[in-house]
Amino acid sequence: MKDSNFLKENNARHVWHPMAHPADSQTNLPTILTGGRDVFITDVDGHEVLDAVGGLWNVNLGYSCEPVKQAISDQLNALPYYSIFRGTSNDKVIELSYELADFFAPDGLTRAFFTSGGSDSVEVALKLARQYHRIRGEAGRTKFLSLKKGYHGTHFGGASVNGNGKFRNAYEPLLPGCFHIPAPYTYRNPFNESDPAKLAQLCAAALEDEIAFQGAGTIAAFIMEPVLGAGGVMPPHPSFMPMVREICDRNGILLISDEVITAFGRTGSESGARHWSVQPDFMCTAKAITNGYFPFGAVMIAGHVAEVFEKDTSGIASIDTGYTYSGHPVGAAAALAALAEIRRLKVHENAAARGKELLGGLKGLQERFEVIGDVRGEGLMCAIELVSDRASKKPSAKDVPLKLQQAAYEDGVMIRVSGNNAIFSPPLIVTSDNVTKILSAVETGLKAVS
Ligand code: PLP
Repeated sequence: MKDSNFLKENNARHVWHPMAHPADSQTNLPTILTGGRDVFITDVDGHEVLDAVGGLWNVNLGYSCEPVKQAISDQLNALPYYSIFRGTSNDKVIELSYELADFFAPDGLTRAFFTSGGSDSVEVALKLARQYHRIRGEAGRTKFLSLKKGYHGTHFGGASVNGNGKFRNAYEPLLPGCFHIPAPYTYRNPFNESDPAKLAQLCAAALEDEIAFQGAGTIAAFIMEPVLGAGGVMPPHPSFMPMVREICDRNGILLISDEVITAFGRTGSESGARHWSVQPDFMCTAKAITNGYFPFGAVMIAGHVAEVFEKDTSGIASIDTGYTYSGHPVGAAAALAALAEIRRLKVHENAAARGKELLGGLKGLQERFEVIGDVRGEGLMCAIELVSDRASKKPSAKDVPLKLQQAAYEDGVMIRVSGNNAIFSPPLIVTSDNVTKILSAVETGLKAVS
């Protein structure tokens, strides 16, 4: 390995980071990582910290998941690459499709279309939703509805349904025909409603209004995260997603569940849709599908949607989209091994139990630190929202969450900052001791900013 100074200087000189101003990483050196084990990561200066970010919501089984590493290594030796474009398939992708259909059977999802990551999965789901209506003779259904605060990746389709100007403004004009409704975000919402159940009803009513305004026959799909993640972790009231499902059904609109974060256990259930007892028409997955060790994703498709495509005899249902790395045999092998571990360890159960401990601990800190305006969480996705004044809910100054993050890091825990939120999404295998450590480092961070 090159020495620490070489790495720091050349990162500043040559690397442009996603989601960062290019000049920023020249002055604010990023943490350069060189190692990972169990739920810990090590930086170039030899500092080992507990990773309460879980990579980027994806290293759910930690950094020492030997079955996934072994599967990748074995597959590199067997068949390191081949495409699955029309005419070829591979043994691992077939086995994986079988296992995924079984895993997602309670969600009614029986077919898989493979991608290279979450943004790809969203793009494919949006395209297939339009195509579904076209096959059925409703080519006028082209629009998409989504939630403000939602995050659906960075491709043009996904950016268009994203509900945060930060990821849209520099790249406009985006896809026409995308409209956003208020998010079930209890702490701040345009209705000033602090009761989550009532807020869910208001947001569902806003969806109905928008459908009526646009005309149901012009809308292809509604896309949502079962728990808003990157926007700041906003779990809706349990009634919200079922209400959305019912509204979509009544209006012939497909429901895309964007589970790039929530699939495979993070909410405390095997999938976010299952968490809310909903069957979506499409489910976008990626991230934890390979434990983050290989870029890979899958769009899962409901049987009744798949049949519409499969029964077409005109040719209009040909899926004329896909990626060089769709169904990559190494990714498929990694996903097969990860899925087996996810099932063997029942990680969703640990996510539910440890998530309760983490949320309870964060609520305890809220009682002691005025700077915490709100605490939210579902399973092992939690956030604290930092404010400069509780009464007015004025967001904290920009440097406050960054200072908190720095102090927590120095105390041995990596956390993530998004706007005025500190976000926690540790691997789903964390222990109660790990949760205690996260909470004590957050406390250190809070003391540093209080
Ligand atoms: N959808 C959701 C809900 C996500 O959280 C993300 C990434 O965080 C994406 C899509 C995009 O995934 P990727 O970054 O793998 O393209």
